[in-house]
Amino acid sequence: MEIKHQISLKTFNTFGINVQADNFVAIGSFDDLNQAFEHQLFAHKCLILGGGSNVLFTGDFAGTIFKNNLKGISILEQDDATVLIKAASGEIWHDLVMYCVQNNFAGVENLSLIPGTVGAAPMQNIGAYGVELIDVFESLSAFDVIEGTNRIFTKEECDFGYRSSVFKTIYKDRYFITDVTLRLSKSPVLNISYGAIKDVLAEKNIIHPTIKAISDAVIAIRKK
Ligand SMILES: Cc1cc2nc3c(=O)[nH]c(=O)nc-3n(C[C@H](O)[C@H](O)[C@H](O)COP(=O)(O)OP(=O)(O)OC[C@H]3O[C@@H](n4cnc5c(N)ncnc54)[C@H](O)[C@@H]3O)c2cc1C
Repeated sequence: MEIKHQISLKTFNTFGINVQADNFVAIGSFDDLNQAFEHQLFAHKCLILGGGSNVLFTGDFAGTIFKNNLKGISILEQDDATVLIKAASGEIWHDLVMYCVQNNFAGVENLSLIPGTVGAAPMQNIGAYGVELIDVFESLSAFDVIEGTNRIFTKEECDFGYRSSVFKTIYKDRYFITDVTLRLSKSPVLNISYGAIKDVLAEKNIIHPTIKAISDAVIAIRKK
């Protein structure tokens, strides 16, 4: 684990606000997290940063930024009907969606192109075009920055609401989410009723849409 000082955050937030962080630590492994805890870096002002698409810096950050670089996507188990996918929290959310679409695993195609990382998705129960994270969520793992221990959260324990979870309320700033597990379907029930998805599919004369067709439609709408 390396602590850098006086680092510009311009390229780490989507507004491109050019502020400086006193300290900057890239978290690329559990070892980095444990070391940061041992050095008591979480005991002072700090901010976990994913893609920086839901933060607005209004001045220099007089504390430590933990940039999440945890990577990896794997299949935990599967049967004829469903598949359990575990993704490290530093993965780009849309990359995970594309992985699912390419493998014909249904459930997140409506959430295509939402900016940010996998680890930030449970924070506010991301949602778009009639689907929310809660619809596919199985569990997550998180590092307790006060105790220095790992904890698994079930769906119920996350207490998801509209753009909300325990990580924005009772456990605000308490946990570094390290990975998220989703249960996706191999025999999809497609959700095309919301927004302009139906119109885009009709324009392309698609009567029986695939997961990819829906993802493509959502991407086209969002890019527009
Ligand atoms: C153009 C645009 C379109 C958007 N569209 C949608 C949309 O359709 N639906 C929707 O729901 N949202 C949308 N958003 C909001 C944004 O995409 C989500 O909030 C996303 O989850 C943010 O991810 P991030 O990695 O950029 O988080 P960041 O901005 O880096 O962080 C957001 C918050 O989560 C915390 N956090 C991040 N990672 C972790 C972690 N691993 N552990 C603990 N805390 C963490 C941060 O400390 C911060 O409080 C949009 C944003 C933009 C800019």
